[in-house]
Amino acid sequence: GHRKVLEENRKLYNLLQDLKGNIRVYCRVRPQKMSTPTPVLIEDDHITIITPSKHSKEGRKSFRFNRVFGPSATQEEVFSDMQPLIRSVLDGYNVCIFAYGQTGSGKTHTMTGPKELTEETRGVNYRALNDLFHISETRRDTFSYEISVQMMEIYNEQVRDLLATGGINKKLEIRSSSQNGGLAVPDANIVPVSTTSEVIELMNLGHKNRAVSSTAMNDRSSRSHSCLTVHVQGRDLMSGAVLRGSMHLVDLAGSERLDKTGAKGDCLKEATYINKSLSALGDVIASLAQKNSHVPYRNSKLTQLLQDSLGGQAKTLMFVHISPEYDAAGESLSTLKFAERVATVELGAAQVNKDGTEVKELKKQLANLKAQLAMKE
Ligand code: ADP
Ligand code: MG
Repeated sequence: GHRKVLEENRKLYNLLQDLKGNIRVYCRVRPQKMSTPTPVLIEDDHITIITPSKHSKEGRKSFRFNRVFGPSATQEEVFSDMQPLIRSVLDGYNVCIFAYGQTGSGKTHTMTGPKELTEETRGVNYRALNDLFHISETRRDTFSYEISVQMMEIYNEQVRDLLATGGINKKLEIRSSSQNGGLAVPDANIVPVSTTSEVIELMNLGHKNRAVSSTAMNDRSSRSHSCLTVHVQGRDLMSGAVLRGSMHLVDLAGSERLDKTGAKGDCLKEATYINKSLSALGDVIASLAQKNSHVPYRNSKLTQLLQDSLGGQAKTLMFVHISPEYDAAGESLSTLKFAERVATVELGAAQVNKDGTEVKELKKQLANLKAQLAMKE
């Protein structure tokens, strides 16, 4: 019935997205801390923010994304939607997954999970690696896979190795990954993994290294980007051909704008670097989405680090996070505007390329499904 049509609708929509490009945008709204009125409305793949306006009527702004997850969405549900993307790494694709949003909106919850981790509350990072282990195992008769990880932090435009065993103070250089066997930061420790417990151990080391570098005044984890990079090398047992895929799982620095008049010294410096790198990321993804010939990778360490995994055949998932409280509404709006800019979700947009007819056909089907849906309501 209704659900099925909706599901079909979504599949077609996503198919359409696949034809249009490799950038997807998901949105997740975390649960409220207390049950107070919320300015956030979710309906299917739409999210609406209600903002009190200066005039008598309140303002409303709606956005549509590939998926919108409400507060009741579980870690498993969120992950299951990303599975095909993650699996494509085993087929030699490069994938970037970003968690974007203001501090406290749930980025780390999505990527890692809460402080007390259980199998159920584990985030994307653990699930993704688990999935890779599992699928590589099922393909063992045809492929031999090697999976290894790096974990890095970018703080004030400096790259550091979170898996370094002798402290993380060394600043690392970014190089061209195509000339370094797929490694953009060849000097960062790279560790082979094959079991979940190995992954958990490494993540704990990474988190410990990260915590050491924060001071009480300065919660570094929300002021820096952290990147878990998974390298996959698969050898076809028949032909001997080797394919390489990689996946970057990035927990971005908080996107909130600091009050410039209040921020001084280190805080101002951090804020300036964060704004710069997040807008550089937005610029890169937006120009990829618009298929511009010039993509401005050089404007930040983050985009340099990910250069070979953003654009071309690479797939990108921008996962934006929203806090459901009224006092976050301003930041939520700016988060959604950022997301809207990097998304190519405008179904009405002109399609002129070799897939033109296919897109037209899909649009027709989509319109039919919508009509069916409307009749049911
Ligand atoms: P961020 O990394 O964006 O600063 P966190 O992931 O640390 O935010 O989330 C802030 C708080 O909200 C944490 O206590 C976290 O456990 C909780 N939280 C975030 N998202 C969810 C969720 N989907 N379900 C339950 N709790 C969540
Ligand atoms: Mg966090």
